[in-house]
Amino acid sequence: MQIDCPCGLGKTYDECCGKYHKGDAAPTTAEALMRSRYSAYAMKKVDYIVHTALVLDNKTAIEEWMERVKFVKLEIVRTQRGKALDKKGVVEFKAWFEAEGKIEVLHEVSAFVKRKGRWFYDESNSFTP
Ligand SMILES: [Zn+2]
Repeated sequence: MQIDCPCGLGKTYDECCGKYHKGDAAPTTAEALMRSRYSAYAMKKVDYIVHTALVLDNKTAIEEWMERVKFVKLEIVRTQRGKALDKKGVVEFKAWFEAEGKIEVLHEVSAFVKRKGRWFYDESNSFTP
């Protein structure tokens, strides 16, 4: 798809997070996984959200939330480790979305861990700053 990737890197969706959603590639950094999860929310790719989380999420709850909100913008505030050779990483982000006509922001310090060479979102070690 020749649309701009929702994650805001300035590339097309196919060249950016789309290849991760299709399974053609896996993100090599925690930030790339974070961005691709945001894009998955924006593009309603619920399976990708479920498959990239360390702990199984409630798929129905995610789907219901996706349907209710419109994703506006992602801002990466800072990253810590999470590079290709790391096993853990932290990404602080702000995600703006519109819900019932109001703009809201989700601000989180997200933890990521690598298992068998792939990055996963670790909700249990993530928090709101
Ligand atoms: Zn992207």
